Amino acid sequence: MQISTAYGKQPEGSKVLPRNQYTAIRDEKPKSKEEAKRPEFKVCKFATDAIITEGNDVGTVHKVCSNPSCPVHHPKQQASREDEKWKAEQEKQRREQAIANATGLRILAAIGAAVPVRLMKRDLLFILERLVSLTDERRLEMLARQHGLRQKRDNGGIGKTFVAFIRRADESTLSKLLVASTILIAASRTNPATVLRDAATLYKVDTDAITQKVKAEFAAKMKAKKEAKANSKVVKAA
Ligand SMILES: [Zn+2]
Repeated sequence: MQISTAYGKQPEGSKVLPRNQYTAIRDEKPKSKEEAKRPEFKVCKFATDAIITEGNDVGTVHKVCSNPSCPVHHPKQQASREDEKWKAEQEKQRREQAIANATGLRILAAIGAAVPVRLMKRDLLFILERLVSLTDERRLEMLARQHGLRQKRDNGGIGKTFVAFIRRADESTLSKLLVASTILIAASRTNPATVLRDAATLYKVDTDAITQKVKAEFAAKMKAKKEAKANSKVVKAA
């Protein structure tokens, strides 16, 4: 094989390969691991001896690879193969995701079809358990306290105590908890005052009366405290 060290086009019918049509393989050993990875330090099965007939070092013999489909010396080919592999992998993932989505939707539809017209205890419990897992500890404690539940020590937190409680609860309690926990979760994500007001309207709760009553109770407590303080002063003075 004859090669040129110049890049320019060869005249018609010339057997001399221009510089851009072969990769020269270096004779010397690579100096580092990094260098060893470079294609010009690798010998492939297409490598042949070639004589330089044009340009620098005319007459010297070198190992070259001139196979355009050589995976070692034509990284473009390699890159496009990697590209194809990557594309195929992407396509596979996309298809798997689409199957998973379609399956999920189908399952959801089947579940929907199995739900009775009026929710039964089993359904209420199912929804409530999911809601409980979404409710934060502080709000769950508020809810639990309304039902006389206190967190026992070493009992895995209020969540566990609460779930144990609802599993024993009757339909009426479950229904009440369902509404209450829905309000608490909605309140934690949006505007608590609005959520509470809307719920109060729906269930015809007189919020003004409750507000007045709470205010009165607090005032009474304050008064009792003040009086207790005054009395103790009188006692001390006496
Ligand atoms: Zn090669």
